[in-house]
Amino acid sequence: MRCDVVAVGTELLLGQIVDTNSSWLGEQLAAAGIDSCLQVKVGDNQARIVAALQSVLRDADAVIVCGGLGPTHDDITRESIAEVMGTTLEMHDVIADRIAHMFASRNRKMAENNLRQAMVPRGASVIEQKRGTAPGLICPVGDKVIYAVPGVPYELHEMFERAILPDLLARSGEPRKIASRVLRTWGESESGLNERLQPLIDELDRVGNPTLAFLASGWEGIKVRLTARGADDASVKSLLDSWAERVRAIVPEVVFGYDTDTMESVVLDLLRAQGLTIGVAESVTGGLVAGRLTATPGSSDVMRGGVVAYASDVKFDVLGVPRGPVISEDTARAMAVGVCKTVGSSVGLALTGVAGPAEQDGAKVGTLCIAVAMPAGGPGTSSGSSGQLVASSTTVMLPGDRKTMRELAVISALNYLRQLLQRP
Ligand code: ATP
Repeated sequence: MRCDVVAVGTELLLGQIVDTNSSWLGEQLAAAGIDSCLQVKVGDNQARIVAALQSVLRDADAVIVCGGLGPTHDDITRESIAEVMGTTLEMHDVIADRIAHMFASRNRKMAENNLRQAMVPRGASVIEQKRGTAPGLICPVGDKVIYAVPGVPYELHEMFERAILPDLLARSGEPRKIASRVLRTWGESESGLNERLQPLIDELDRVGNPTLAFLASGWEGIKVRLTARGADDASVKSLLDSWAERVRAIVPEVVFGYDTDTMESVVLDLLRAQGLTIGVAESVTGGLVAGRLTATPGSSDVMRGGVVAYASDVKFDVLGVPRGPVISEDTARAMAVGVCKTVGSSVGLALTGVAGPAEQDGAKVGTLCIAVAMPAGGPGTSSGSSGQLVASSTTVMLPGDRKTMRELAVISALNYLRQLLQRP
């Protein structure tokens, strides 16, 4: 089964919009084991859309065309598909009613041209709209098929997952159940992960199911995604369980979670499970760590607060750091201990470093000192108000410009804390 992609929109050709829809579809099709060999961009011109569809359909079994389903005169994907099918458009009453109802329910007057979105090529079936106003279309062309979806990414994603992928799998005769498992990693480069997992990747290439893909995701880490197909949910789950465990066993120290886990949700869960609270002292990241922790719903039982100790004086006066050079592990450790006292937390996490553009105190751009203060005796031991704290620290060198360095500093620091919390 080969399914190619045609993205419609003059703004794509003018560089006003980046064609993320095609790359997203390419990724999804590859994960599902469906060949996709050509992606085409074409402007809002009927003759050229028709020519593009005809040309793609010569070699592919299916084509997904995205965009140009809206209500305005330049949204001509429907007309173009009807021409390729050799048919005309007809009004689909159910869709027309639904669009009219949607406007009425929002107390908005409906412009007549909205009903253009209820025009469907004869012989096509409709992918009901859940989010926008334009439905998607499944349009048979001989034994091939054109799928049409709106250009708005979240509408497209939803329709692809709900209707197009199951239809494609049914046509290809492949098992219809498909699911993914994402292993969330931090601490190893994409090429390093690739190298360590290569024997397993070779084995997966031989068996063909599941497939494995790497997704570098900035300060979310590197995602390793397994996608499996099977006859039913149970067989898909069992495939994902066993292969995910095999991946984890090869790189256990870098896997911090699965699927919707984030580094901060994992750290917060570990703290909560051990009865600990956290305070954050940030210099180089200026509050980004506290921002990520507090963005996690339910963090308030664990997250006490933070101090943005950007100026050296604030480190000395608010956190009680001894005067001296501030880009050092000594300073980070003193900040971590200081913030525990300032916000009344049992654990302190501190970051100091150089995001650039210039080096500071002789420390190079990219230097990050991280420290964690914890109750003496390790996690699970309450420090109390007069209890002893022990501080650990490390220094890492991070790549990238100022923005990238600061973002990577956040996940690096949270990961350091995670590793300490998981230490036996
Ligand atoms: P609607 O029914 O909402 O009008 P449509 O099918 O007419 O959708 P377009 O008008 O072509 O789609 O695009 C709507 C919006 O979707 C664009 O303004 C753009 O933000 C986004 N979009 C369109 N095509 C793409 C694409 N290929 N990649 C990413 N975003 C896109």
